[in-house]
Amino acid sequence: MAKKVYSFGAGAGEGSSDMKNLLGGKGAGLAEMSNIGAPVPAGFTITTEVCTEYYKNGRKFPAGLDKEVEAAMKKTEKIMGRNFGDPENPLLVSVRSGARVSMPGMMDTVLNLGLNDSTVKGIIKRSGNERFGWDSYRRFIQMYGDVVMGLKPESGDEIDPFEEVMEKLKHAKGYKSDLEMNVDDLKELVKKFKALIKEKLKKPFPDDPNEQLWGAIGAVFGSWDNERAILYRKMNGFDDSWGTAVSVVAMVYGNMGDKSGTGVAFTRDPATGEKKFFGEYLINAQGEDVVAGIRTPQQITIQGSKKWAKENGISEKERKEKFLSLEEYMPSAYKQLEKVYMQLEKHYKDMQDIEFTIQDEKLWMLQTRTGKRTAAAAVNIAVDMVNEKLIDKKTAVLRIDPASLDQLLHPTFNPKAKKEIIAKGLPASPGAATGKVVFNADIAAQWNEKGEKVILVRIETSPEDLKGMNAAQGILTQRGGMTSHAAVVARGMGKCCVSGCGVLDISYSDKTLKVGSKIIREGDFISIDGSTGDVMMGKVETVDAVLSGNFETIMKWADEYKILKVRTNADTPHDATVARKFGAEGIGLCRTEHMFFEGDRIKAVREMILSEDLEGRKKALKKLLPMQKKDFTGILNAMEGFGVTIRLLDPPLHEFVPHDEASQKIMAEEMGMSLEKVKARVDSLHEFNPMLGHRGCRLGITYPEITEMQAQAIFEAACELKKKGVNVKPEVMVPLVGTVKELVMQKKIIIETAEKVMAQKKIHVDYQVGTMIEIPRACVVADNIAAEAEFFSFGTNDLTQMTFGYSRDDAGSFLPEYVDKKILPQDPFKTIDRAGVGEMMKMGVAKGRSVNKNLKIGICGEHGGDPNSVEFCHLIGLNYVSCSPFRVPIARLAAAHAAIQNEEKKSKK
Ligand code: PEP
Ligand code: MG
Repeated sequence: MAKKVYSFGAGAGEGSSDMKNLLGGKGAGLAEMSNIGAPVPAGFTITTEVCTEYYKNGRKFPAGLDKEVEAAMKKTEKIMGRNFGDPENPLLVSVRSGARVSMPGMMDTVLNLGLNDSTVKGIIKRSGNERFGWDSYRRFIQMYGDVVMGLKPESGDEIDPFEEVMEKLKHAKGYKSDLEMNVDDLKELVKKFKALIKEKLKKPFPDDPNEQLWGAIGAVFGSWDNERAILYRKMNGFDDSWGTAVSVVAMVYGNMGDKSGTGVAFTRDPATGEKKFFGEYLINAQGEDVVAGIRTPQQITIQGSKKWAKENGISEKERKEKFLSLEEYMPSAYKQLEKVYMQLEKHYKDMQDIEFTIQDEKLWMLQTRTGKRTAAAAVNIAVDMVNEKLIDKKTAVLRIDPASLDQLLHPTFNPKAKKEIIAKGLPASPGAATGKVVFNADIAAQWNEKGEKVILVRIETSPEDLKGMNAAQGILTQRGGMTSHAAVVARGMGKCCVSGCGVLDISYSDKTLKVGSKIIREGDFISIDGSTGDVMMGKVETVDAVLSGNFETIMKWADEYKILKVRTNADTPHDATVARKFGAEGIGLCRTEHMFFEGDRIKAVREMILSEDLEGRKKALKKLLPMQKKDFTGILNAMEGFGVTIRLLDPPLHEFVPHDEASQKIMAEEMGMSLEKVKARVDSLHEFNPMLGHRGCRLGITYPEITEMQAQAIFEAACELKKKGVNVKPEVMVPLVGTVKELVMQKKIIIETAEKVMAQKKIHVDYQVGTMIEIPRACVVADNIAAEAEFFSFGTNDLTQMTFGYSRDDAGSFLPEYVDKKILPQDPFKTIDRAGVGEMMKMGVAKGRSVNKNLKIGICGEHGGDPNSVEFCHLIGLNYVSCSPFRVPIARLAAAHAAIQNEEKKSKK
């Protein structure tokens, strides 16, 4: 194996920022910061390759690693002027996890490593602070006991055994806060913690710093495979084979007294994207204290501090007494920080999420990484950075994850709705969420599975709550700032979150949430607004999203790069209008059967199906004609100037049949038939496998009058609109074609009807007749079909169903397990299976274009709004994708990504 360990510190790192895959985000960031001269404590990173090797070897370290670690430790000792394990002048280290992508809080870290009964004396001597020495020691044993020796509680509600010991001691002494513990108390804790380990694990706490170090390295590697890390990877589509790096970093202390502190900051606001340095810090604390959300931190800038005070109803006097910003409290450290954050942003050309420690007023940078942000912030930052000439338009477009746009397009609370605001917390992650209150992650997941919408309410969240956060509509916490676990993870998930809502009084055991005299119980509805921090009683009405100017700008830039056109699947004039606002360039699929279910129409449809002869059917169709015509008029009008693909009736007939006796009676009366006859007709329509039964063009073949009625409705609508000066472009699409003859027969009816209507209306309308390609056989004989079709549209829902032989309606019972067991990399109904279904599509394209090289080809299955599938459509040369209205911007951006990235790939070759 190649080099296993990379050193950094003192203005030089062996690695760099483009080595994230090997050194993890943290390791690469520390190396790069060293390189550009930011103040970084020295240390070294063990590569992710070592982690992979460790797992391959049955959790054993590869040969030669010890030598490289030893040498790197020597370098670190030299730079820091302290020695690991030296009782006089000890070097202590932190051992940190760090994958190539950020997985906040999912893996483990150990701080203060290297302490034992003799080195603690050295630390006390060097710091001149006895309390600090013993406090660090007890923290270390606790953390090591939890993380490395495995005493950490598994669920969020379980008590940490070390915390229990500490609480007992505090209780006995009548202390309220940890800070009241004196040196003797801390010494006592060290003893008790060690005894606890011995008692529970039947082995002693390791005193040898080297043994501690290897234990911690193994534990960090091991944490790559803990339950929450696995779940987090699954949720985010991260690969299990990546592994984590381990960074061993010289300790610097934020808990060395009042001139020390620690903090987390973003170079711009991660919720809104505003260009404001934004962050939180705690005086006399270690890094984990800020992220864990146990103490509510203070703001870094004066401006942020004033805003925070105002939001929390704190007077300026009180703010100045108790909640000073870092800028006011320690101006020299603030100045150092300001310089570094500006340098980092300029260097990385992106918003950074940084962690720092101040030891005796000197700043140390512990981490920098690309900051997670909401979709709104991502859009604003990308556009701002183009305006600031930091990045170009292409980079800006690539910076926005298409799937994240979903967050922007969703509703917000109606400002005019009646609201009973009961509390206000921090607006940690935007969105409008309403649901039933639950206090536990498992319950959140269980209720969600039953189809309930829930709000997860926690005092603070920990990584154990991930499952519940994922299941919830929104997250509400009592403690924790904008950089707490809840806030960071929620933003990453695009989930609404209100954090640090201090007035809440939460009891897990009573399952209640009290605010003043109000008591909210598990199962009661609340609403939370992640953009304002409002917590409201009950359900609150929402309104559609309003898109910002920067959103428009990004979308405009995306359109400059994309090659694919983006259409929409819409069955109503309303949906067509919404989609057009989102940038749809036409309709790729109008499912006419949806129009058959509305109001009284179902009666006419049933009448048509239940009729025993042509005459009866024609009578019923006559009733449907004006209704369909009205729909088509609305849709063609809303999409004026763009192509509108209207698909002929598709679903299985039995879907329309009245199955219950009450509706059978109504139909019997309506049609003057006996109930028995209706029942007999219903029975005769029963199908064993309706998805493969009498549907699609098979209906039009057996009942040509249906096709005729639909064509008549389409062309009457089109002719009448054209007469009014509306530019209409109808495209009639025949579904479920498997042989060219089906298409030929349907096309004949369509053309004859069109000609007849146009002659009657004395006006000509340009139109096309094409077909869905959604049966595998259609791909195979696509050349024959292309001779008769003016366009193809891939129905990848059916094509996936029939290529795999998985029923669309029943696959839910086994597909998740197929994905879990990695038989399939993802659900093929969401993302095109390129190897199978994709190959069918390629064949369809090649054969179709071999006959008509300009054949227009699109896709209208659900995949048309899935970014990965959009890329595939780009690659195989489709003309357009079509998706639901709310996915139109996602598809536009995904199409731009596909064009830019594949252009870049090509030019690299
Ligand atoms: C398809 O099969 O992909 C399609 C768009 O048609 P439907 O979902 O209506 O069967
Ligand atoms: Mg279909």
